[in-house]
Amino acid sequence: MVKNSDQTQNGETRAEDRTVEDVFDDTYKEKDGPKPPREIVWRNVVLMALLHIGALYGLTITPSASIPTLLWTAVCFFISALGVTAGAHRLWSHRSYKASLPLRIFLAFGNSMAFQNDIYEWARDHRVHHKFSETDADPHNAQRGFFFSHIGWLLVRKHPDVIEKGKKLDLSDLKSDAVVMFQRKHYKMSVLLVCFGVPMFVPWYLWGESLWVGYFVPGLLRYAIVLNATWLVNSAAHMWGMRPYDSHINPRENMFVALSAIGEGFHNYHHTFPFDYATSEFGGGKLNLTTSFIDLMCSVGLAKDCKRASPEIVMARVQRTGDGSHKTG
Ligand SMILES: [Zn+2]
Ligand SMILES: [Zn+2]
Repeated sequence: MVKNSDQTQNGETRAEDRTVEDVFDDTYKEKDGPKPPREIVWRNVVLMALLHIGALYGLTITPSASIPTLLWTAVCFFISALGVTAGAHRLWSHRSYKASLPLRIFLAFGNSMAFQNDIYEWARDHRVHHKFSETDADPHNAQRGFFFSHIGWLLVRKHPDVIEKGKKLDLSDLKSDAVVMFQRKHYKMSVLLVCFGVPMFVPWYLWGESLWVGYFVPGLLRYAIVLNATWLVNSAAHMWGMRPYDSHINPRENMFVALSAIGEGFHNYHHTFPFDYATSEFGGGKLNLTTSFIDLMCSVGLAKDCKRASPEIVMARVQRTGDGSHKTG
């Protein structure tokens, strides 16, 4: 187990108390011989199919939703997206900034609304994704194609190496976070209440929207949109776009994904400097609402200690390993 690692994959010393195991490990080698057979989890196939059919139906009845319901759908989108991007991703997977208790509670609430497995499991899978990126031990190994890295990985049993490497990670920081463990303990109930209950009942109770529209539009349609926006980071942002920071890895700078996943599309930068809270060389101004949100939280005293890669380190890296597409500003 690598603990207190203070080096990135390229030997650049990390700032502060880095103990997060999100650094690419090039010592791992995929096992020789035939790959284990693919085992489909039919329960997940049926549930995902039903969700997407429900979401498409939700799209067809969207014109019948009232304006407040549409605004509420957008609010639910942003709360659940932040629960993933600012919460499970930048805070809990990468420890790229520190959040106060009220902010962690809000982010855990948003995370349950996004219903993408609990924070503990999400962060464990995500650390394995960075550490063993695009190998058998990567849960959504993009070498297996767009469909697998987008949604397919949730429809089959995990590769044994994903499980094995996941068990070996140091997750003590997550275990010692009471908010993370509370959400894990009450996960099913929290999803029922927050992913489906709150989006459906609030518009019904406050402005008389029908429960039917509440269930299908801010409920299922919003849920499916957040899921797919997040999955695009694993699929599209590992396939299409430029690689100004490291041309030897597959993750790319994808502006469409940056827009849909509220700032998570600068993926070549993010895999090169995973400790950076902005997940981008540029701050919150450029298609990065999550960074703007964290900045706002810092300015009101709810977050602090945002980690950044220094401009000198970034430029040195651009010149050493970039693909020549880097533009300043
Ligand atoms: Zn990440
Ligand atoms: Zn990635």
